[in-house]
Amino acid sequence: MPIPFDNSFAALGSPFSSAQEPDPVKNPALITINEPLARQLQIDPKWLESSVGIDVLAGNRIAEGSEPVAAAYAGHQFGHFNPQLGDGRAVLLGEILDKNGHRYDLQLKGSGRTPWSRGGDGRSPIGPVLREYIVSEAMAALGVPSTRALAAVTTGERVVRDGIAPGAVLARVASSHIRVGTMQYFAAREDRQSLATLVDYILQRHYPERLGADNAAVALLEAVIEAQAKLIARWQLLGFVHGVMNTDNMLLCGETVDYGPCAFMEEFHPETLFSSIDQQGRYAYCNQPGIAQWNLSRLAETLLPLIHEDTDTAVTHAKTALQRFPGIFEAAYQTGLADKLGLSDMNESDNALADALFSALQEDQADFTLAFRFLADQVNPGAKNTGAGELFSPGQKLLEWLPRWMQRQQVESADPQERQKRMFAASPAFIPRNHLIQRAIEDGENGDYALFHRLVARLADSVSYSSIDHDLALPAKPQERVTRTFC
Ligand code: AMP
Ligand code: MG
Ligand code: MG
Repeated sequence: MPIPFDNSFAALGSPFSSAQEPDPVKNPALITINEPLARQLQIDPKWLESSVGIDVLAGNRIAEGSEPVAAAYAGHQFGHFNPQLGDGRAVLLGEILDKNGHRYDLQLKGSGRTPWSRGGDGRSPIGPVLREYIVSEAMAALGVPSTRALAAVTTGERVVRDGIAPGAVLARVASSHIRVGTMQYFAAREDRQSLATLVDYILQRHYPERLGADNAAVALLEAVIEAQAKLIARWQLLGFVHGVMNTDNMLLCGETVDYGPCAFMEEFHPETLFSSIDQQGRYAYCNQPGIAQWNLSRLAETLLPLIHEDTDTAVTHAKTALQRFPGIFEAAYQTGLADKLGLSDMNESDNALADALFSALQEDQADFTLAFRFLADQVNPGAKNTGAGELFSPGQKLLEWLPRWMQRQQVESADPQERQKRMFAASPAFIPRNHLIQRAIEDGENGDYALFHRLVARLADSVSYSSIDHDLALPAKPQERVTRTFC
C-alpha cells in the first residue's frame, strides 16, 4: 500500500462517523508536498507527487486501505451551543502509523459536501488552505503541538465565498481530530455508552500512561487539562492569536487545530484580535487562557455521568481537576518567559519586571517578536549579531526598562552565550506575518506560489536569523498592515 492506512476510528462505526467519500474535483493540480512529513509517515513523496497520489490528495481516488468517513461533533461557537456540526467540509481518509508507531489521522479539508454540511458547499478557497499550511507548519517547527500539512492541491474549480477564488484541498495530519465538541455531541444526546467508548479510545490512543487510573473519565479530563494548559502557554509566549477557540476547535490530543482566522500579534497589545467575525473580542490574545478553561469546563460537563453516579460527587471531582488549569498554565508560561528573558527562573520580583516590560512594549507599540530578539542581542553583545535585533529600534519606554533587567542579570550564573542561545530558541526571528501570508495568498490565487514556498522554507527554521531574509522578519509597514482575517 503506498499509504499504510489503518482505520481505528472508522472501526468504531456509527454513531461516531459514517462512510463518506470525498467529492471528486474537476482538475486537480499539486501546489506542494511536505516531503519530511511524508517520509515520517512512511509515504514515498514521489508517489504522492504522481498523478495517482495527486488524485488521492484531491479526493478523486480512494487509496488502497482507506475507509473514508465524516465524523460527528457538536460545539459551542462563540459561547452558543450547536448540538450538530460534524465534518461538513472534511473527510477522514484513515490513520497512518509513523516510524515510531505514533498514529496520525489523515484528513482532507475542502473535499466536498457531506450530510453534515449546512449552508456551505463543502469546499475551501485556496486562501485558507495556504494560510493553514504556512501557519500550522510554522507552529510545528517551533515545537508547538499542532496539526500538520501533508499537501495542498488546487481543484481546477472556483469557490464562491467572500469573492470568487480558486478552490483547494488541504491534506491535514493530526494526532487525532477528536474534539471537545465530539464529547459534547454525545453528551447532548445523553449517550453514555458512546461517551464511555470515546474515553477509552482517547486514553488508549493519546494517554496510554493513564490507562490504569481508578477513574478513566477523571484521568482523561486531567490529561486534556494539562495538555491544553501547556499548549495555550506556548501560544501566549509566541503572540499567537487563534481567533476561533470554539469547543469544536479544541482537540483532546492537545494539538492546535483550525487555522482559520488566526494570526500572530505584531505590535504588543493584550487585546489583539484579528477575526472579522469576533465582534465582542471573545477570542482576543489576553482571553485565550480563560477561554481554554471555559472550554475545558464544557468538556468536564460531558464527563460527569462517567465520573460518578452521584452528580455532586462527580462535580467535586471535575472541579478539582479544573482548578489545576491555572497552576499548570502559569508554571509553563513562567518557564517560557524565563527563557525569553534569559533568566534561570522567575521569582516574585521578576514577575513585576516582566509586567513592566509588557507595559513598556505596549506603550512603545513595539513589535512583540523583534523586541525579544533585540533583548537577546543585548545579552552577549560581543558576539556576531545573529538575532534580528538590528531590525528593531527600541522605544523610549523599553530603553527606560532596560537597566532594571541588566541589573537583574548580574545574579545569573550561566555564561552569556548559553543564555543567549536559550533566548533565541524561545523567541523566533521569523513568525508568519499576516501581511506576508496575505501577499502569498493573493499571489497563489494567481498561480504564483513563490512567496508561499519561501515562507514555508524559512519558517521551517524560524529561530536562526539570516539577513538574506530580513524582509520576512520585518513587521508590516503601516500601508501593508492586515488587521482583519477571515475564516
Ligand atoms: P470549520 O471552519 O472548518 O471549523 O467549520 C465549522 C463548521 O462549519 C463545521 O461543521 C463545518 O463542517 C462547517 N463548514 C464550514 N465551512 C463549510 C463549507 N464550505 N461547506 C460546508 N460546511 C462548512
Ligand atoms: Mg473547525
Ligand atoms: Mg474554521
